[in-house]
Amino acid sequence: MLALAGIPLGFSFSFVAETPEEDTRCVRQLGTVVRRRAGQSPGELYDELGKPEVLTAEKEQIECSLLHAMQHYCTVHPNPGSFATLQDRLEEKRLLDELGIPTAAYLHGETAAASAEQLSLPVVVKSCRGGYDGKNQWVLRSPQAVATFDSSAHRDRQIIEKWVPFDREVSIVSVRDANGDIGHYPMSENVHEEGILWYSIAPVPDFSEDMLTTAQGYISKVMHALEYVGVMAIEFFVTGKELLVNEIAPRVHNSGHWTQSGSKTSQFENHLRAITGLPLGSTENHSVSGMMNLIGTGVPPREALSSLSTLHWYDKAARPGRKLGHVNFVGRSHEELTHQMDAFRQSVVIDRPDR
Ligand code: AMP
Repeated sequence: MLALAGIPLGFSFSFVAETPEEDTRCVRQLGTVVRRRAGQSPGELYDELGKPEVLTAEKEQIECSLLHAMQHYCTVHPNPGSFATLQDRLEEKRLLDELGIPTAAYLHGETAAASAEQLSLPVVVKSCRGGYDGKNQWVLRSPQAVATFDSSAHRDRQIIEKWVPFDREVSIVSVRDANGDIGHYPMSENVHEEGILWYSIAPVPDFSEDMLTTAQGYISKVMHALEYVGVMAIEFFVTGKELLVNEIAPRVHNSGHWTQSGSKTSQFENHLRAITGLPLGSTENHSVSGMMNLIGTGVPPREALSSLSTLHWYDKAARPGRKLGHVNFVGRSHEELTHQMDAFRQSVVIDRPDR
């Protein structure tokens, strides 16, 4: 989607596949794919990619040492230090603590029993690395579950977090350029099923200006602290009038996919503008917008689309629980939007994550 947004800007793209087996059909016809192989030096990779001016990433679990090495050859945005901090939940929590930004209470280096004692049940164990879409997470709701967890051989580094009885989940997607200028998209409300984002609606209905300002302040603080360039997202739990950070993503984000239809400049285009030194595009929305993920399901029937919805199909191998595409919706009001999203959902069988 980054490449699709960048081709009209006159950019050309090449892609790094991290393993020889990685399925790269989703970037077919968009540019050269270079597969990482044992013994390939960063210089060889740079040459094979066609000597790019800028390198970026669209996932956080990426080899930071490679990003550092590539800085000898080209600009790397966001900077490798941001990935190092945000690909590790403990480092991320420590950054938030340093900046005085509230998050769900957590412990590190304690057993589940000690954590349950201090935080009270339920608690959620999260691996420091490699967790997304609820993967590498275990919710412990009873003393028995805690005892079973402690007696099993979980060797990953992990944090144990208090379960937050949130009212709703929201996120902010923002973009920062190399001069430190920041644009904020309207915030999204996000509904998850089994830890996987199912749909988003933006702007968040019935959301106070104060909370919006608070969220913008938090993400600006994080971006400035990391000297971040590009698009970032922060997911929050809303409890009463409080915003608690759940997770920070150093990349374009699923809860910002609606910007493809609903904003003057999509998050993808703005990420490219930021990392290539172009002026940032407007982050204003021109309609009420929604996005629904197509999870583990086949291509939806085209008749399910309306004049106000757009299909984005990724051409990835189907797997239960895998995001295979999404549909964006626009409307003149939240009512019109919800009506359309409900009608779409009823006409398409959307798999529930099968885990
Ligand atoms: P994550 O991968 O950390 O974003 O978690 C995926 C989803 O699991 C979140 O969007 C929440 O719906 C839920 N979740 C994760 N951590 C917590 C928590 N501490 N309290 C309540 N729900 C949580």
